[in-house]
Amino acid sequence: MVDVTLIGTAGAVPLPERALSSCVVTLNGRSVLFDCGEGTQTAARKHDVNLMRTDVIALTHYHGDHIFGIPGLLQSMNLAERKRPVYIVGPVRAGGTIFQELAPVLTLAGNLDFEIRPLAMPAEGIVLSELFPEWPSLARLDCFPTDHRVTSCGYVFSLGRRGRFLVDKALEAGAPKVLWHVLQEGSAVTFKDADGNARSLRPEEVLGPDRKGIKIVFSGDTRFCGSLCDASKDADLLMCDSTYGSDDQEETAYEYCHMTFSQAGRTARLSGAKRLWLTHFSQRMNAPEEFLDNALAEFPGAECGFDGKTVSLDF
Ligand SMILES: [Zn+2]
Ligand SMILES: [Zn+2]
Repeated sequence: MVDVTLIGTAGAVPLPERALSSCVVTLNGRSVLFDCGEGTQTAARKHDVNLMRTDVIALTHYHGDHIFGIPGLLQSMNLAERKRPVYIVGPVRAGGTIFQELAPVLTLAGNLDFEIRPLAMPAEGIVLSELFPEWPSLARLDCFPTDHRVTSCGYVFSLGRRGRFLVDKALEAGAPKVLWHVLQEGSAVTFKDADGNARSLRPEEVLGPDRKGIKIVFSGDTRFCGSLCDASKDADLLMCDSTYGSDDQEETAYEYCHMTFSQAGRTARLSGAKRLWLTHFSQRMNAPEEFLDNALAEFPGAECGFDGKTVSLDF
């Protein structure tokens, strides 16, 4: 089960009931936090989300409304006597380094009793179990380029699902039942067959084709763009920049490198996403629901995000 909660849904300026951009994805009690705008901690508390078990903070870009919550969160983790490292990943501009990007945030956080591990988001993505062994081996974090005013990316969090265990193949190969779960979890096994000969078996010999897993997409700030549509292909949930409600604001959205409700809906439709949550609302939009029809006209599954909106996704 993967739990997703939008923590903050405001763009640029926070409102009393809308904190700045942040979203948390939790699996088996460990979390990846996407962006951490001002007010993230307060909003998380308000909506009963525990951020102390965050292993990775994934930043879409370094605008203040997406990062000003980080120093406070790191200090709270320190006060909670955290010892486990925290990875902070994000995009890096050509010739730059992740250390340069994160310097202001890390300076403000001050001395911490746990390690911060800044990591330029690798193009090949991250297998989360390679950072922390508690994560399932098929949990991944991938990024894709977005079209914002600064170097930026969006993220795909995915949990793969192996194929069915083929009992007849396992029996045929003579694999002892005690080793079946090892094969099911994707590792090879060695054992002695009936004649006492050493035999090894690879998981692909006893598993059917991979099954559909869970895919969650967080756009960050972006214009309507092809790479977001491609990355969102068949996503179970797309959380999408929806800064502007009205179709009349399409030019403004282009100018400021954001999206309208219609464009978010179009992205979900073109990509075949199952659910669409609109987020990152302009402070001028008091009631995003008033514009929801614009997204619904493109994608019938569109929903307005709000701070604390949550869903549990299962295979
Ligand atoms: Zn923003
Ligand atoms: Zn921005």
